[in-house]
Amino acid sequence: MVLQASILQVCGIRPPAPHHNRGVRSRSTDAFILGTHALKEKDRIVSFLTRDAGKKRGVAHGARSPRSRFTGVLEPMTEARVVYFEKEGRDLVSLDEVEAVRPSFALSGELGRALVLSSFAESLEVFVSDSDPAEPFYRLARHAMDSLVAGGSPAAVAGYFDLWVLKLSGLFPSASECAGCGRALGRDEVLFFDETRPGFLGSECKRSGALRLSPEARDSLRRFLTGPLDAKNDPPGLTEIAEVARRARRHFLGHELKSQRVIGKVLG
Ligand SMILES: [Zn+2]
Repeated sequence: MVLQASILQVCGIRPPAPHHNRGVRSRSTDAFILGTHALKEKDRIVSFLTRDAGKKRGVAHGARSPRSRFTGVLEPMTEARVVYFEKEGRDLVSLDEVEAVRPSFALSGELGRALVLSSFAESLEVFVSDSDPAEPFYRLARHAMDSLVAGGSPAAVAGYFDLWVLKLSGLFPSASECAGCGRALGRDEVLFFDETRPGFLGSECKRSGALRLSPEARDSLRRFLTGPLDAKNDPPGLTEIAEVARRARRHFLGHELKSQRVIGKVLG
């Protein structure tokens, strides 16, 4: 068996990964890299969102050495084919291979896009719970990344992504009924957003401090929530939509995301 394994290695073929070996199993999946941090001298802990097994954390052994096989493939929002070993009863997995399928570095050369990538990664890190199936989040990430690669406006893509992360997390209210009295909100009436409910209100139920949406922002917000993103141009009212997402997020978390604070400082 040892000889067979070494012959395979000489020929450049990896021996088959052990399945169910003392509670260890090998898994192969598509994943978005979310972030890394240093572990001891040579390793990194990598957080990644898999298509079919939720969010995972794994050790990339040797990833801090200059000639590591993980060099260049652990950038935030790089989509990769990941092979990892999982041991029964342990949360931390062990990364075996990470092969970039859609590297994000092509987008990270421009500051606005680079900041948006880090905000996507942080949002997914915060809002997706560990090991829950998270395919809708995966599809959202893919849709947002495809839009950026196709030259979409980073602000529009970010606005859409931020609303949908909240919606998929069950934290975004319906924009079609008043959160105060439950009546259906007309398509053309003035909407107020109140993050403390959280909800959209008609003028009869609004309180002071609620955010009044312009008709353009209201219509763009409804388009965002009901269809795919068309990010060729910034839709009207985008700043207000970003403010709605910001208020909802801050109310839920009790603070703003680090990446959003950086975006605020750098891009205003
Ligand atoms: Zn009402």
